Amino acid sequence: MTQERTRILIVGGGYVGMYTALRLQKRLRRELREKKVEVVVVDPRSYMTYQPFLPEAAAGSVEPRHVVVPLRRVLRRCVILTGRVDSVDHGRRVARIQPVRGDAYDLSYDVVVIAPGSIARTLPIPGLAELGIGFKQVEEAIALRNQVLEMLDIATSITDHAARRALLSFVFVGGGYAGIEALAELEDMAAYAMRYYPELSQGDLRWVLVEATGRILPEVGEDMGRYTVEELRKRGIEVRLETRLESCVGGHIVLSDGEEFDAETLVWTAGVKPNPMLARTDLPLDEKGRVKCRPDLRIDGVEGAWAAGDAAAVPDVTGPPGATTGPSAQHAVRQGKVLGDNIARLLRGGTTSAYIHKYVGSVASLGLHKGVAQVYGVKLRGFPAWFMHRSYHVSRVPTFNRKARIILDWTLALFFRRDIVSLGSLQRPRQEFTEATR
Ligand SMILES: Cc1cc2nc3c(=O)[nH]c(=O)nc-3n(C[C@H](O)[C@H](O)[C@H](O)COP(=O)(O)OP(=O)(O)OC[C@H]3O[C@@H](n4cnc5c(N)ncnc54)[C@H](O)[C@@H]3O)c2cc1C
Repeated sequence: MTQERTRILIVGGGYVGMYTALRLQKRLRRELREKKVEVVVVDPRSYMTYQPFLPEAAAGSVEPRHVVVPLRRVLRRCVILTGRVDSVDHGRRVARIQPVRGDAYDLSYDVVVIAPGSIARTLPIPGLAELGIGFKQVEEAIALRNQVLEMLDIATSITDHAARRALLSFVFVGGGYAGIEALAELEDMAAYAMRYYPELSQGDLRWVLVEATGRILPEVGEDMGRYTVEELRKRGIEVRLETRLESCVGGHIVLSDGEEFDAETLVWTAGVKPNPMLARTDLPLDEKGRVKCRPDLRIDGVEGAWAAGDAAAVPDVTGPPGATTGPSAQHAVRQGKVLGDNIARLLRGGTTSAYIHKYVGSVASLGLHKGVAQVYGVKLRGFPAWFMHRSYHVSRVPTFNRKARIILDWTLALFFRRDIVSLGSLQRPRQEFTEATR
């Protein structure tokens, strides 16, 4: 031990980080009260994001603030540091912390939990860095909602046909659930909003999904994926399978099937890769760059270090030999709980248990009252799938407070019309005042 008190450092306050800390708060109540243990959670954001609700937040079905959980409120007995862990030297039991402002400093620890999740897996496509936006954070969901509605607003007062077409063309790259749900929810919202834009017609909007493989939504199985393609095409969405984005310089989209057009909105959801900070640790990584774990979530061959979630290669003991669990909230939440329990047990001289969970399938929302699901082998589509999506996720979103607020958002939506205001100026709040000072 580096000090009298055992310091447990949690890198990342997302699914794994927050659930591990919650579990430690519960299991080590006495040790925390007697100051024998300290739990420190480091994250550049002060909240945990419930990502499965981001598409609904983008569509305006739920209030964006309700899909995040403030870490300070739920982790009352932990220390929350708002900053980034730049590197971890586990040999010395020291992490380098980069606060949001000021100089980086070293923080020593006794036990570390590595849970920084994943980041967007991008490709060196010309123009992508300038034009593209991801869909992993609540700010991206808010920005996209504002962007779509602002494009409709601007397009109504523009006479140049080509410029108008570019404003009203929305391209999504990647057909996993993040991309499909974001596209389907935003298209649904825009289709609804069109009743307030008599200057525009439904055909003016162009929604394009670009997917490099021959299928979408692998999470819900092949036939449900095919059903989703048909559904999206019926709604006028162009689903381009086995197609890649080749370039998007200055908003000029070039696809591998030869198609070229202009678009002002490009959403990149083509998969994730483990957080690059993992490469700045002395911990063992697999060929994908994830931390190698044992079945009980301890890091392979290392003492006092644990990992889980998107950043970890966790053996899937329910699968074939060598299989690891995929990057999903379903695993991350459960792993966080097992991880917290295991640390608490070891600290109290007990033994650990393995993480065992067989992936049960997925549910995806495709807009209001539309969805697709495959859970425990049961396939659902349309309203039942959408209803299952909502009930499942509201049961899973952390804290009673967030559940209640989300249910209230949905209830209000039953009685009032959908909100279609674009608050794009939120991204430039000082503009008007700055102009006034000139
Ligand atoms: C739009 C969308 C929809 C999804 N829908 C579903 C779904 O329906 N079902 C499902 O099972 N899964 C879903 N997922 C996947 C799921 O959200 C992830 O698998 C899950 O969040 C992984 O949990 P995690 O704790 O590993 O990472 P995260 O929850 O991403 O948490 C990582 C945390 O680490 C922080 N961090 C990053 N770098 C550092 C650093 N250097 N130092 C400190 N902190 C750092 C981040 O800010 C973040 O808070 C969805 C994902 C997205 C993007």
